[in-house]
Amino acid sequence: MVVGLGPGADALQTPQAAAALAAATDLLGYSTYLDRVPVRGGQTRHASDNREEIARARHALALAASGRDVAMVSSGDPGVFAMASAVFEAIEHGEAAWCGLDVQVIPGISAMFAAAARIGAPLGHDFCAISLSDNLKPWETVLRRLRAAAEAGFVIALYNPASRARPWQLAAALEALRGVVPGETPVIFATAISRADERIDIAPLATADAGRADMRTLVMIGTAATRAITRPDGGVWLYTPRGEAA
Ligand code: SAH
Repeated sequence: MVVGLGPGADALQTPQAAAALAAATDLLGYSTYLDRVPVRGGQTRHASDNREEIARARHALALAASGRDVAMVSSGDPGVFAMASAVFEAIEHGEAAWCGLDVQVIPGISAMFAAAARIGAPLGHDFCAISLSDNLKPWETVLRRLRAAAEAGFVIALYNPASRARPWQLAAALEALRGVVPGETPVIFATAISRADERIDIAPLATADAGRADMRTLVMIGTAATRAITRPDGGVWLYTPRGEAA
């Protein structure tokens, strides 16, 4: 079972995910995510470093092939920049018997959906998701996709916008977009959504400060069509209308 834990809050984890976690004999995953799973007697935990994804997937498959009920955990949805692909990659290049395993991918609420719901409906029309990490693809590819998505009028959800090892990429990405979409386009910084220290800031692209993001931030960049509704308390709803002019 490749299980999506959702963005953080228990209420945003599906009952199917909770049942899978309770049924497992073995739990695997990045230690930060495993810490979110309630401890149960009789279960074995195999915490690992964030970077060793294929090795972790192979470990899970070997345990499952030996008859264990294995749950591999991911934050958000396991199919979005997360462990489900690593598991299938390990199956494709691994032992022949692994193709016969009963693999279940259990979906979760991805960070972009949790963040969008907190601010209104910014993803209400065509959108795309891009990981800003250049650990697994060249930076040139990231820039090319960003520009193409902005030119095509997609709202963009940026995962992995920054980390200690990748401090400059978000500023470079915002600068590249400034050449393509208007400076007043809203940029949403949504950090630790559904956690106690949740924080959401909105700034126009022209002045958006990349330093606002860290590894727990989901960044969304609207389009020229994205609308803001100011509320009596000074707060704002952002939404992207369903329709657009020809
Ligand atoms: N599978 C996950 C994404 C993993 S990549 C999902 O579907 O959400 C990790 C990135 O997800 C982080 O760098 C951040 O951009 C985003 N993220 C995960 N949890 C988040 C949260 N609670 N609030 C804001 N962003 C989050």
